[in-house]
Amino acid sequence: MKLKMEKLKTILGKHEINEFEIIELGSDITDAKTQIVASGYGSQHHIASVVFENEKGKYVLGIRNANAKFKSGALKKFSNSKKLKMVSPDVLAKLSQIAGSVCPLTIDPKEVIVVIDESVAVMSDIVCGTGTIENAIKLSRQDFEKVMGAKYVRVAEVQYVRNENELDRYLSGVAPSASEVHLGNYLGAMKQFVDFQNTPGTENYYFLADYHAINTVHEGSSLRSNTQNVMLDYLGAGVDPEKSVFYIESQIPEIFEMTEVLNNAVTLGEMKRMHGYKDKLADPNQDENSINMGLFNYPILMAADILLFEPDFIPVGEDQAQHVEICRDMARSFNSRYGDILKIPELYVKEATGRVIGTDGERKMSKSIGNILGIFSDDNVIKKQIMAITTDPARIKVDDPGDPDKNPIFYYLEIIGHDKSKIEEYRERYRKGTIGDVEFKKEFFEIYREYISPMRDRRAKYAKDMDYVNDMVKENGKKARDVAMGVMDRVRTAIGVYRV
Ligand code: AMP
Repeated sequence: MKLKMEKLKTILGKHEINEFEIIELGSDITDAKTQIVASGYGSQHHIASVVFENEKGKYVLGIRNANAKFKSGALKKFSNSKKLKMVSPDVLAKLSQIAGSVCPLTIDPKEVIVVIDESVAVMSDIVCGTGTIENAIKLSRQDFEKVMGAKYVRVAEVQYVRNENELDRYLSGVAPSASEVHLGNYLGAMKQFVDFQNTPGTENYYFLADYHAINTVHEGSSLRSNTQNVMLDYLGAGVDPEKSVFYIESQIPEIFEMTEVLNNAVTLGEMKRMHGYKDKLADPNQDENSINMGLFNYPILMAADILLFEPDFIPVGEDQAQHVEICRDMARSFNSRYGDILKIPELYVKEATGRVIGTDGERKMSKSIGNILGIFSDDNVIKKQIMAITTDPARIKVDDPGDPDKNPIFYYLEIIGHDKSKIEEYRERYRKGTIGDVEFKKEFFEIYREYISPMRDRRAKYAKDMDYVNDMVKENGKKARDVAMGVMDRVRTAIGVYRV
């Protein structure tokens, strides 16, 4: 083993390659898949090197990205072979190689025909085997090319290969369009984020969709402060930046590149069916020609936000279901042209809280309508919001009997999980007219305040340590970008971006 590493280092030295990382893999490596998991670098950074033998007894070394599969016809064509079969471990041993950790750098190019797939051409760095089970090596693609040459041909199909060891990945975002989130955002989205984050076997990606917000927030200082506020709201709600990959959309420039790719995977007709656009159009004061393209294209940017991270599930409120559906359509349309490249995610909407009703008791809770219940606002603001909740209009005097179905407080008590028997007691009193609306609202204010107080305390703690928060978001942004870059590489290869 030592000898093999020495040989590798000599070859690197001959090519004046000094920057590389020898990765310790531990002792559980059985094949390429386990190597990918153990290296800590995602499959997007790994190549697979496979040795074949052709009908003339010549060896062919095929190299591709770990997320690709060889197309045997193309591999035969470019290696001038009629037949190809993978060599046995004995033959590999003759070439000083070992199954599961072939090191292309140490194979003598005079002994084999080397065929490198285009999927390698777009990788920024490369992790490959060392010919030993214990180690892998990571080096830049430029350095890899110094040893292997830079001639690429299309012999593999890039595709999403699901690794059995991968965790279920959840991803969602909130636009910092307003300076704070409300109960609808919390119950419709953030609470799910926290629940999933704390579920073993999951991986969680949650972000602040700041570029989505520039559709309505037109002052730089407002976007900056909204972003910081909503960032703290997330943390207050319980998203933990040490457990979830918590980042800002604008940290990932690949999202905007992907948006352009996806512009070509959707039609005008499909886009015109989106409710954001349709609602705007339905407004009698709105002229179609003045509808902002940012609003119109919102679902495309959102699809890029999603597809670059290959999530399994998208936990959102019901209002986003149509957008997730069109995102799935875009991925399917892209895949039908280019192969199985993009992973198609599933929508996750929690039935009971997918559409939280506002304090008017009718419409979806929304900042733009002004029917919200805040979480992190001052007490007096929240008190005002509660006092504005609609009540049974048939009740004139405090002791008139009331209809609980006409007072949304009962609904709020249920969705925040208040004690069922206590809700029943309130119902009885309301029906009998033994509790007045003002008294009921005052009591609800106390109950609600108790419900939100742990979140407010947590937010206040984070707010005192913005350096920590910023550092965490910075680190998480790098992690998220790494995933996005891998997928973007695959997309570039698939669409045929020419590399000079
Ligand atoms: P937005 O503020 O539009 O970025 O929304 C952030 C998240 O909150 C999305 O997942 C929305 O679906 C969700 N959301 C917003 N308003 C509500 C609501 N009234 N009920 C349930 N979910 C909501």
